[in-house]
Amino acid sequence: MIHDLLIVGGGINGAAIAREAALNGLSVLLVEKDDLAAATSSASTKLIHGGLRYLEYYDFKLVREALIERERLLKAAPHLIHPLRFVLPHEHAIRPWWMVRLGLILYDHLAGRISLPRSRGLRAGDALYRAPLKDGRRGFVYSDARVDDSRLVILNARDAADHGATILTRIALIAAVRDGAVWRATLSDGRTATARAIVNAAGPWVAPVNAQIGVASRAGARLIKGSHIIVHQLFAGDHAYILQQPDRRIVFAIPYLDGLTLVGTTDVPVDRAEDACIDAVEVAYLLDAINRHFTRRTGRQDIVATYSGIRSLYDDGASEARQVTRDYVLELDDGGNADAPPLLSIFGGKITTGRRLAEDALAKLAPRLGITPAKVTRNRPLPGGEIADFDTFVAGAIARWPFLGAARARRMAGAYGVLLATLLDGVTDESGLGEDFGHGLTACEVAWLADREWARTAEDILWRRTRIGLSAPAGMAERLTAFLAARGR
Ligand SMILES: Cc1cc2nc3c(=O)[nH]c(=O)nc-3n(C[C@H](O)[C@H](O)[C@H](O)COP(=O)(O)OP(=O)(O)OC[C@H]3O[C@@H](n4cnc5c(N)ncnc54)[C@H](O)[C@@H]3O)c2cc1C
Repeated sequence: MIHDLLIVGGGINGAAIAREAALNGLSVLLVEKDDLAAATSSASTKLIHGGLRYLEYYDFKLVREALIERERLLKAAPHLIHPLRFVLPHEHAIRPWWMVRLGLILYDHLAGRISLPRSRGLRAGDALYRAPLKDGRRGFVYSDARVDDSRLVILNARDAADHGATILTRIALIAAVRDGAVWRATLSDGRTATARAIVNAAGPWVAPVNAQIGVASRAGARLIKGSHIIVHQLFAGDHAYILQQPDRRIVFAIPYLDGLTLVGTTDVPVDRAEDACIDAVEVAYLLDAINRHFTRRTGRQDIVATYSGIRSLYDDGASEARQVTRDYVLELDDGGNADAPPLLSIFGGKITTGRRLAEDALAKLAPRLGITPAKVTRNRPLPGGEIADFDTFVAGAIARWPFLGAARARRMAGAYGVLLATLLDGVTDESGLGEDFGHGLTACEVAWLADREWARTAEDILWRRTRIGLSAPAGMAERLTAFLAARGR
């Protein structure tokens, strides 16, 4: 079989391109060498945002497009993506009041018509926002949104597969050669695949994959590591903080799961995609960043977990890591022959702009594939996303499946949206959920994750399909492994 597209990499960009292409009727094969979202797309700050700080680099186009996507995503996946209020404490020595105010007005303006509350100054009634801060007299409040990043990737892959795409995990592309009008690719399981075009969406591995294919990129990929620490809850409330630092960077402190705060990120140039590991300097930087602002002192003993991811940014010659454009660049190669099968390499991008990038990728390939792509995903819900109001949906789920309990019903409603009814089809009481592995994760849900969401290992389930890994009791991973083995997957 000749595929229209062979996509290398199952992060947000690969999965979104697979969805866009499949919905446009193309035959798609996506190969992912590890698990879906195993790399950068599960290691982000988990924000659906325009990127307030990019305004300082005059990246207005990036910010505007991301803000438009923010609004679209809030509608497409209201179970998975939720509004989040940010408090920005004023730091005159770092940025004057007028500059921040102007930036926030511009941020609201670039977003156009939005469903989220607009920015404002901190008010007398904002005691909850001020309480944890050392010097909380002045500041701002503005809106963005949060997401479970790896689940967003899964939903894109699911929609792609539901429209005919083949998604193969734990299979790498190891070589590809042009043969007339097609690519002939070799996969790590010994299979070969034939495709009219290849999309290299390998994220931090974009350059090594191009080298495997024998194509030299015009520009380099600049690899920049960003790390997070997860600490015991720093403050009460559902809002987050964006904290200005003396080096003019910003660090986020975001409420995370039950009783935790996510703190990040750093910007550290690295040489290899495999270098995604936090170092002692980054830990100290992030601890300093929060200790400068919050009255509660946080130390290494408060760190529950850490993670790091690597951005692969288009090397546009900027000198500092934080100044390299976060906008994506799509590079098309045809080996100098307009009739040769094309290779499209993806640099940069954001979780927020994956859908938009996919549209652009398809538009770029369209003349080569002889298609006129339609904007099929602009107003399309992601799987499970046909929900008007999330809280009402959760209340309905608690009433319909009382045996789940409120906390589990909320977690599962957030993960599966309206597909929860399919997942729980025929289950009328607790016993119908099957073996309980801990933290409300039962055989019924694990079977869904294995059958519908490409979960193969306990790690896939604990860290990327759910976030239960952070609090998994001893032995849970082993029990899951045994269960998956017994199912023969
Ligand atoms: C610290 C940090 C914080 C961030 N925060 C945010 C945020 O809050 N909001 C936001 O919108 N964006 C954020 N981003 C940006 C966003 O996370 C990335 O732009 C995005 O995840 C990149 O996705 P990707 O698909 O290009 O790469 P990846 O997610 O890395 O996917 C590439 C995939 O390719 C696979 N692969 C590699 N080689 C092969 C091969 N030979 N064969 C098959 N598969 C292969 C890999 O295993 C990997 O899964 C952040 C980034 C970082 C680093």
